[in-house]
Amino acid sequence: MKPVDFLINEAENLQFVLDQTLRYDYGLDGSREFYEECCARLKHIKSELKIIDAADVEVVCEVAKDIDDLSELICRIERSSLGEYSWPFVEEFKEISKEICTEIRDVGPPRIPKVHVIAEGGLSSYSIYSDPNRELGKRRIFTIVFPRTLKHYVLLHTILGHEVGHAIYNLPKVQGKLDDIFLTHFVTPNKIFKDQKTVVQWLYSANAPEDVRGELNKLEIDHSIGSKDFFFAFASYDSWIQEFLCDFIGLLMFGPSFLAAHTDLLYSSDPNGDGIHDDHPFTALRVNILLTAAEVLGYDQWVFDQRIQSAVNDFWKDLFAKRQTDPWYDIFPKSSIKQTIEHLKEYLATFEGALYPKPAIGEIEKLVTKILDRCPPVGYQYDNGPQCSHVDFRQIIFAGWIAHAHKSTKVKKTKITFSEINRLCEHGIMQQASIKLMLNNKNKRTRSK
Ligand SMILES: [Zn+2]
Repeated sequence: MKPVDFLINEAENLQFVLDQTLRYDYGLDGSREFYEECCARLKHIKSELKIIDAADVEVVCEVAKDIDDLSELICRIERSSLGEYSWPFVEEFKEISKEICTEIRDVGPPRIPKVHVIAEGGLSSYSIYSDPNRELGKRRIFTIVFPRTLKHYVLLHTILGHEVGHAIYNLPKVQGKLDDIFLTHFVTPNKIFKDQKTVVQWLYSANAPEDVRGELNKLEIDHSIGSKDFFFAFASYDSWIQEFLCDFIGLLMFGPSFLAAHTDLLYSSDPNGDGIHDDHPFTALRVNILLTAAEVLGYDQWVFDQRIQSAVNDFWKDLFAKRQTDPWYDIFPKSSIKQTIEHLKEYLATFEGALYPKPAIGEIEKLVTKILDRCPPVGYQYDNGPQCSHVDFRQIIFAGWIAHAHKSTKVKKTKITFSEINRLCEHGIMQQASIKLMLNNKNKRTRSK
């Protein structure tokens, strides 16, 4: 069989798989729209295959890649099912990321992404894939991936704020704006991260921590990679830079809860934060930058009432203890972090729901009290009758972290485990969604009277 004939056959196979799977209902809001979108993409591929020049290797490879991507996508959508991830969290998460993930184009209407969710094995599976920037389909499809084992751990799911950063970086207009802010205020003025050469000088400097030097040595011995080809043969400078950017976006979307999840997850596989990775800069460096960013945002200065203030203090004490103290890591001045955060904040504020809102006075206290009483934390109180109020799901999660830091959850008699707190918060998010519906309907009824 010639390559093009093979691809024509594979396109037919794909049509068969598509008809067998996605026309059935998968996911909370069905799979009809996914089915139609994938059919449109396949139609485009088939029409290309009809007119393709079989001798043009480059074009043949491109179509082969499109077929592969579509095949993977269909299988991923097929695999997404209700039982594998925390759907109350996902529904709220879709809400706050909908506007920021919508693609504005010069020609044609905005492209609102279609989101589907799956679970994978392994702690590092948290991710969001977005379609590559090709005009193949009408809508972009975003795939959110959760670690299967952490299904109910809504406190840790805040790490997805970082993944939103990667997803929106694929939207050309957003990428231009983010680059503009990030390069101007964070990368270009930095003595070390301004280019690859200076990063390598810093990495291989004599005052680098012993463990870092050991790791670099290992890289040299095992793979013959040294200072001359560190970025060429091993790491990606652009990926490293993008990681810093996405960390800031995660922090701005989820507030202190993001920082707590970020440090817990990253340090779990890299306890000293000094592991060298090809696509991620040092964990210790990222954590130090985020801690300074949290200070710049004033998160650690928020004052709460007596019932929870000492738990809040412990929450921050625990986080700041994760700062890597070796001055070698302190390469981004506070002023640069401040400027970057301020500009990013201003930009994110233009998208409805994207920015983490400062909690209202008394809001977190009430939610924490509920968790300590082993009740789902929601905007509901019985005070001369039932009283319901709006609560952002990110405050429920923040309250979860504070409850986790609360001394009473650690005492034997009243102990509430991290896992239980997550379950309570997940239930809280679910119940809060009903409260939101009820309050919105009530408002509608009042307006129409
Ligand atoms: Zn990342």
